[in-house]
Amino acid sequence: QGDPRLKAISEAIRVVPHFPKPGIMFQDITTLLLDHKAFKDTVDIFVDRYRDMGISVVAGVEARGFMFGPSIALAIGAKFVPLRKPRKLPGEVISEAYVLEYGMDCLEMHVGAVQPGERTLVIDDLVATGGTLSAAIRLLERAGAQVVECACVVGLREVKGQHGLNGKPLYILVEPR
Ligand code: AMP
Repeated sequence: QGDPRLKAISEAIRVVPHFPKPGIMFQDITTLLLDHKAFKDTVDIFVDRYRDMGISVVAGVEARGFMFGPSIALAIGAKFVPLRKPRKLPGEVISEAYVLEYGMDCLEMHVGAVQPGERTLVIDDLVATGGTLSAAIRLLERAGAQVVECACVVGLREVKGQHGLNGKPLYILVEPR
């Protein structure tokens, strides 16, 4: 990818070693949000990719998928659906559990938020093992949605090969530093 915007996007992401625990190189996208040009370029790259793909749903993973998803949804004429951590959504939900390094977590979505067959983009800030995105895909597919692609700002090349993502394509902008 020879896109000159990607270098500035990568450099706008702060790397915080040993957060939230020893050994983790935390990729902090809040510094990207502070850089208007890099933030706008990030959204624009996704919008250019997805605007003509017939996508009617952008589903964002709590919490950092919420920081990119709505801007993309508005620009491509789609609705935004939050995929939330347990017990945050007030209406009837469907839930999908997934395994973390230590323990389990869960994503929930409101029943009726997506209609069967709707073409959906899943967005999060970062993919590591792909466990979170896989749970998001399962949740959306159980509701009848068609997941077209998953997109993240940061991702490892290894997961890009889409194993562990239920065969769904993954689009990432930059690798972790
Ligand atoms: P995974 O399910 O292993 O693909 O992990 C992805 C989720 O964990 C995303 O929601 C990320 O926001 C978060 N995450 C995992 N590793 C990191 C990291 N090194 N820096 C920032 N966020 C991370």
